[in-house]
Amino acid sequence: MSWDALYSSAFDKVRGNIGNVGGVLLAYNTNIDAIKYLDSRDLERRINSVGKDEVMRYSDEIPEKITSLEHLLGGILWSVRRGKAAELFVESCTVRFYMKRWGWDELRMGGQVGIMANLLGGVYGVPVIAHVPQLSRLQAELFKDGPIYVPKTEDGKLRLVHPKDFVGDEENCIHYIYEFPRGFRAFDFEAPRENRFIGSADDYNPNVYIRPEFTEHFEEIASNARLAIISGLQALTKKNYREPFEEMKRHLDVLERRNIPVHLEFAFTADETVRKALVDVLGSFHSIGLNEVELASIMEVVGEKPLAKKLLAHDPVDPLAVTEAMLKLAERTGVKRVHFHTYGYYLALTAYKGEFVRDALLFAALAAAAKAKLGDVRSIGDVVKAMNVPVNEKAKTVEAVLEEKYGMKNGIADVDGYQLSFVPTRIVKKPKSTVGIGDTISSSAFVGEFALRP
Ligand code: ADP
Repeated sequence: MSWDALYSSAFDKVRGNIGNVGGVLLAYNTNIDAIKYLDSRDLERRINSVGKDEVMRYSDEIPEKITSLEHLLGGILWSVRRGKAAELFVESCTVRFYMKRWGWDELRMGGQVGIMANLLGGVYGVPVIAHVPQLSRLQAELFKDGPIYVPKTEDGKLRLVHPKDFVGDEENCIHYIYEFPRGFRAFDFEAPRENRFIGSADDYNPNVYIRPEFTEHFEEIASNARLAIISGLQALTKKNYREPFEEMKRHLDVLERRNIPVHLEFAFTADETVRKALVDVLGSFHSIGLNEVELASIMEVVGEKPLAKKLLAHDPVDPLAVTEAMLKLAERTGVKRVHFHTYGYYLALTAYKGEFVRDALLFAALAAAAKAKLGDVRSIGDVVKAMNVPVNEKAKTVEAVLEEKYGMKNGIADVDGYQLSFVPTRIVKKPKSTVGIGDTISSSAFVGEFALRP
């Protein structure tokens, strides 16, 4: 069958069955993204009024966290000069107030949980229970309508309510995102590519604060779920990871006892101790989702440095190196499903077999292309609008390599007792937005797979 035909039939099957999935529990990170498109004159004026010399210092060497206006503006310049992304924690109240007054052009749902809740619940109509560390009015408004729930306790009793009906008036967790296009100028600097600098005015998500409803009533919350996705551990450090990890392990035990498969959405985790600790608990997860940088970063901490290098050496990423790394991860940890995504193709290594694994990847690729093309996907019907985005030509060489090495057919092969599934993706040339596309891919594939299971 052609890839177009496989895509089309996979979409129909997922659309027909997604209503049977049941509740999906999503934990732990949700925040508000406040996007500000930088203006050169405005930025220069602000830098001059704070003191250009001092700001310039931090554009050479980025500070560890933001405790002054010089840090904030210097950090932005650091990003602009290099065209590189950076994210720093904003500790100072004065700076937080300054950013609030500077304002934003757009508010968006942020955090993997928030993004996946809106996609699964608001777009696919799959009931979700979300962990939202702080539910302010602003945060609540960013949730789409649909079967999205947060736990609320009243007189010691647990209820599941839509975030808009929570009315908790808690704190705002705002990530201020300062975006600049390629060629953006500030003083003598010119951005070599588009990117963003993020200042997080958020005391909850970076520490993986877990709400009392979740600590006290987790059994009851879990009784409403058939699947779970955990994310948001990426900002932890060796100083603060122990407590949230203990709580997460308790949650994983409860989920395991209830036979609820859990997916870990891995995001780049800078701290090596935390990364290692994640590999150590991976056996308690059914599944993990990651890209090439993230897979390489894991290979680095399991003593596979040459393989880590290989993963980052080619474009498109060498599929044999990816398969080797996925096998190592699965064999070492016992995780049953590894879903890898990169620009142009996805691979999944599973300890079980069936076309539904590949079909779920196809559905995810269509959802990702729809997201890139439309910016916001409003309904599952929107997903099929990406059928006219061409299938990536470059993936043909990747497919040929897998056919040659593993005798892959229609994207499926047997490798060392595992099933390897491959799909070429559809690439949108001029994407409207790529924010949260990784979360779209991973959650669509994981939930899609359970919709299709025989
Ligand atoms: P993020 O954390 O920003 O979501 P990830 O690396 O996790 O980033 O996910 C990005 C993925 O999105 C890539 O692996 C690729 O598969 C997909 N992607 C990126 N750009 C496009 C595009 N223009 N069209 C389709 N898919 C894209």
